[in-house]
Amino acid sequence: MWFEEIHDDFFKQGLRVEEKLVEVESEYQKIEVYRSREFGKLLVIDGHGMLCERDEFIYHEMMAHVPICTHRDPKRVLIIGGGDGGVAKEVLRHGDIEVDMVEIDREVVRISQEYFPEIGDWENPRLNLTIGDGIEFVKRADSGSYDIVLVDSTDPEGPAEGLFNREFYAHVFRILKDDGMVVAQGESWWIDMPLHKEIMGVIGQFFKIVMPYRFEMYSYPGCNWNFILGSKRYHPTADIILQRADLIDGLRYYNSDIHKASFILPNYVKKELGQLYKW
Ligand code: SAM
Repeated sequence: MWFEEIHDDFFKQGLRVEEKLVEVESEYQKIEVYRSREFGKLLVIDGHGMLCERDEFIYHEMMAHVPICTHRDPKRVLIIGGGDGGVAKEVLRHGDIEVDMVEIDREVVRISQEYFPEIGDWENPRLNLTIGDGIEFVKRADSGSYDIVLVDSTDPEGPAEGLFNREFYAHVFRILKDDGMVVAQGESWWIDMPLHKEIMGVIGQFFKIVMPYRFEMYSYPGCNWNFILGSKRYHPTADIILQRADLIDGLRYYNSDIHKASFILPNYVKKELGQLYKW
């Protein structure tokens, strides 16, 4: 049996899976967990692979530590989505940071706790989990209340649709402090450059610095994937204090060299992005 992820009817990637461990139709989406032959267990939402045990550390470390090591002194981080707990666990490695996480689907949290218990850090007292809509949460949050916002959402369909537009980012900008920054899932240059450019453009309407950074995700279609960092003040390659990146315990992917290298863009990407790239 294969788990196949089809993107826009032109690209397909597959993983050999041995059994389906669970399938739940929640209020918001269909959630499945498979056991794959070589990549460990795999979490799938509405047919899209969210994470698998073999390479989840790459995504989660890169989403969390790049902005944290760019910022001078982050204390409050908001995660939108992220119901598998992986990004929160990485943020919580920094002992002085408090995390608010807003995940819309209780079932994603429950299934992740049951099938991927080692990926989260659910009992950590510095994690404050709200089950609710991230769009409504940012509307109600106080201005200037967060240092970093991480948007770890599903693709722009269903409940995540409103996490990609101007209104959402206007609130993200508002609730960040004057030196705050946001990181969002930036999709793939190779598989969906139009969507990548759209997110760059929306974030660029508010933030002074907007830069994508890359990582490889072997279980995602096309393997080449990006996050997009929008920053009000700090520059992710000029202002990073490199030693901090190498002092975090237990990391398997991220380090100071990866940090710098991940911001280097190939020529075809620079050309495509043009003025959307604000550095
Ligand atoms: N790493 C994953 C990826 O990009 O493939 C995403 C991980 S996480 C499982 C994505 C989460 O975003 C899902 O659990 C989904 O329920 C949540 N989500 C989608 N829309 C949301 C919203 N409006 N507010 C809060 N969470 C949302």
